[in-house]
Amino acid sequence: MSGLRVIFFGPPGAGKGTQAKLLEREFGACQVSTGEILRKAARAETSLGKQTSGYLSRGDLVPDDVMVKLVAERLKKPDCKAGFILDGFPRTIAQADDLERMLKKDGLPLEHALGLNAPNDVLIKRLSGRRTCRNCGSMFHAVFNPPTKDGVCDRCGGELYQRDDDREEQIAARLRVYEEQTAPLKDYYRKRRLLREINGVGSVDEVRQRVFRAIGDGAK
Ligand code: AMP
Repeated sequence: MSGLRVIFFGPPGAGKGTQAKLLEREFGACQVSTGEILRKAARAETSLGKQTSGYLSRGDLVPDDVMVKLVAERLKKPDCKAGFILDGFPRTIAQADDLERMLKKDGLPLEHALGLNAPNDVLIKRLSGRRTCRNCGSMFHAVFNPPTKDGVCDRCGGELYQRDDDREEQIAARLRVYEEQTAPLKDYYRKRRLLREINGVGSVDEVRQRVFRAIGDGAK
């Protein structure tokens, strides 16, 4: 496992998944979206899916031990040899500690913790209009970034749908969970000199340019 080793964290709707996919294309590192893995497991009704789907629909976090095991297994796969882009993990200090231990053991520590941010009104507008591809997880927006053909993914032709947790009632819960459990990662990574705070407001391309600058800049 060498090459780019970064995590994205930030509130729902900040652009983690979108930017992680762009980095994946550029660097060939594996993009690991824990949310996407869990949604696929729920659809396939695997034991992981059955165990975790309730947390997802409530907007709660899945327990740390389940998540850490899932990510540890994923990072061992061959496509992560060229590095990884973790999107949505870690989400708690306990997960961050476990990730640090895991990577230390392999002698390949994290290079950057990319903290994307945007004000709540922007996040709410993005989430409530977001449409996600059932097949490849690509994201569109009904108004800001509509697909060429209504309901169809431009990238793979898959069906676009609105995630249950992107409905208004769930969005507030997810924003609260972020503030309480995930926002403390900012200090955690700041202390380790890995934090790169990135303004997530603007077009996909504007944010992409900031992400690339943050990666090239080195320690902040
Ligand atoms: P996301 O697609 O990143 O917005 O994640 C969707 C949902 O999956 C979250 O609201 C959680 O229920 C669950 N989830 C994803 N990643 C994690 C994680 N690292 N820890 C706990 N729960 C997670």
